[in-house]
Amino acid sequence: MTRLTAAWRRLRLGTQLALALGALALVVFGLVGVVTTSLLHQYLDNRLGEQLSTTLGQFKSTNYINLQPGKFGHGSASDHDPPIGVMVEFSPGNNVKLTDSTVHPPVDGQLVVALAARALVSGPVHPEQDIVAGGIRYRFMAATVTNSPVLKKVAVVGLSESDTEATIRRMIMVNLVTFGIALVVLVGVGQQVLRRGLRPLADMSSTAHTVASTDLTANSVDLSVRAKGEGGGIEVEELRSAFNVMIDHIDHSLAARSAAEQRLRQFVADASHELRTPLTSIRGYADLFAYAAANEPAERERHLARMREEAGRMSLLLDDLLLLARLDAAEAPLRPEPVDLVEIAVAAADGFQAGHPDHPFTLEVEPSALPLVGDPMRLRQVLDNLLTNAAVHTDAGTPVWLRLRSEPGWAVAEVADGGPGISPENQARVFDRFYRVDDSRTRRSGGTGLGLSVVHSLVTAHGGAVTLQSRPGATVFTVRLPLSAGQV
Ligand code: ADP
Repeated sequence: MTRLTAAWRRLRLGTQLALALGALALVVFGLVGVVTTSLLHQYLDNRLGEQLSTTLGQFKSTNYINLQPGKFGHGSASDHDPPIGVMVEFSPGNNVKLTDSTVHPPVDGQLVVALAARALVSGPVHPEQDIVAGGIRYRFMAATVTNSPVLKKVAVVGLSESDTEATIRRMIMVNLVTFGIALVVLVGVGQQVLRRGLRPLADMSSTAHTVASTDLTANSVDLSVRAKGEGGGIEVEELRSAFNVMIDHIDHSLAARSAAEQRLRQFVADASHELRTPLTSIRGYADLFAYAAANEPAERERHLARMREEAGRMSLLLDDLLLLARLDAAEAPLRPEPVDLVEIAVAAADGFQAGHPDHPFTLEVEPSALPLVGDPMRLRQVLDNLLTNAAVHTDAGTPVWLRLRSEPGWAVAEVADGGPGISPENQARVFDRFYRVDDSRTRRSGGTGLGLSVVHSLVTAHGGAVTLQSRPGATVFTVRLPLSAGQV
């Protein structure tokens, strides 16, 4: 049984459905066959009964049975089975005389007499069972002709049943053959039709196989396969489009994952490179310091100062890297509290003016307060980074502005300068980590290339956004931060 179940499961769905259809058809055909055959049997039986009565009536009155072909049969070869007609006379003294009116196969006389005797008592009768004569089954009927004390005469008539039987047999044969052919055609054609109907599913299955056999852990994954074809009905269409959308999702997330991995690799490589530069300098200055300690003591302080400078640069770089890594990991290194952006901006402006006296500076504050929830130290870092850039990447004397205003729901801070600006192709990349527009120039200015990435990550972590518009003479970084609830 289990082997049968296992074999059934191994069949294709189309074959399974076709076989199930065949089994169903077999049951239906069987029922139809049994019902039609038994109806026909009943009908032929009734007809034979009617003929028997007619023949008996004729025989009683004429003592003669018409033997015309077809009269007693059903137009078949067995029409030739002769009918049986016997007159049974009972005379006093228990004398019984049988008179055969027809030529017929030998029939058991005792049975005929017994039947006739019963007819005398209870009117026209049939025997309980058919009587076999000459290998042919006969249906008998007996009826009294004369019933006087001197002469009792009974007519007994028998008609062959072989016509009925032959017709039924033929009917069964015809049924078996036609139903058999119909069954084979049904299963065969059904299998083809079902197979065609199920082809879209087979397509999907082979696509799924392709996806399953693709190494999704490889560096570059090609997931361009999709379930093709059309038709199959609404359900199959829906399944196919859902299936393809699912592969799209897998494809996109794989692409996103490999892009993220690529970015991480690049970031680690850049970070190592950036850390190596100050380290190399420190080692160089340390050698110089050791040499100077022995030969030129006056130079020592200078080398030591340079070493401190480089170490400071390194520590700034490490701070930025750590901050970015934490923001990336959504570890929330922020300590949010209710703050006023105006206060933070005024402090940043003071710091800028003190640190960069060679840049004319204007602070424009529209609202008296811009309350929001944020980490004051990090928000100050955002403004400091933007203001420092405005000074560091422009020539001395270039004007710098810090403007504060509010938009519905947002606090807006703009850091603008009248410097050379950033070209459109670089505008898209300045927020990338370690990206510098002009490497040599920025190296001179000591930038790490992380300033704007830190700004972007911090602003995003505060639920805000930073944008850049720049053309020669007007570079504007705009920071939007959500105002505290209830503030407009
Ligand atoms: P850096 O440490 O080099 O300043 P940032 O991420 O802060 O790194 O800036 C990236 C690059 O964008 C800088 O190297 C510089 O070329 C350019 N940049 C940033 N701000 C300005 C500005 N106000 N004017 C011109 N160029 C700028």
